Amino acid sequence: MSKKKGHWGDCSFCGRYKLTTREHIFPRGIYPLSSATSKVQRITIPDCTACNSGTSDDDAHFRNVMSVAGDATDAVQELWEGPIRRGFAQIDGRRRALDMFAIMRPAPDAGPERYRIFPAEDERILRSVRKIVRGLSRYHNLSPVVADGQVFADVQREEIPEQTLAGFEIGTTDSDICAYAFLSLGGVDGMLSAWVLQFFGRTNFLAMICADEQTRITKFGK
Ligand SMILES: [Zn+2]
Repeated sequence: MSKKKGHWGDCSFCGRYKLTTREHIFPRGIYPLSSATSKVQRITIPDCTACNSGTSDDDAHFRNVMSVAGDATDAVQELWEGPIRRGFAQIDGRRRALDMFAIMRPAPDAGPERYRIFPAEDERILRSVRKIVRGLSRYHNLSPVVADGQVFADVQREEIPEQTLAGFEIGTTDSDICAYAFLSLGGVDGMLSAWVLQFFGRTNFLAMICADEQTRITKFGK
């Protein structure tokens, strides 16, 4: 919870006129100390206490899962040696570890005792991705307040054709930690915008913001 002084305004997530504070769109926890002043990390939007409370646990889980979802980069290594190790040592650290193991599967093709992690099987991870996208949509003034139900998010399962990506606008980017690009779709076919996000240079997600929840269910089935 933030102790910062608030300002009255429209919350980016519920749209209500409330006392809001500036909150980071990307969880601060994914930034190791050496990158704490990076460009993406400094992107903030206003939100209310109700929308902002209870997300710190999701943020820690997101950081943990993203850090093991691929190769150990320098940034990931730094996180493991600092906040992640400290997090597991805390009182709820055992639960945090179990949350992570729940989405790991043996990967015998990669070698004995190797595991792969499946972020798309974890609703909390996808919720974190959806929240980032909702915040970015507001930050870029693409659409009015976006509800969670309007957003479809999944891990990127196939290569995106070069000509499709060519139309995307590149967002503020720290390629070693997080990067994103987006395409405004202007409501055509019930679609407001398309998003690609990448964490630690190797874990990619896709997201679509639909005009409403029904459109999302019709188009994506979940
Ligand atoms: Zn709110």
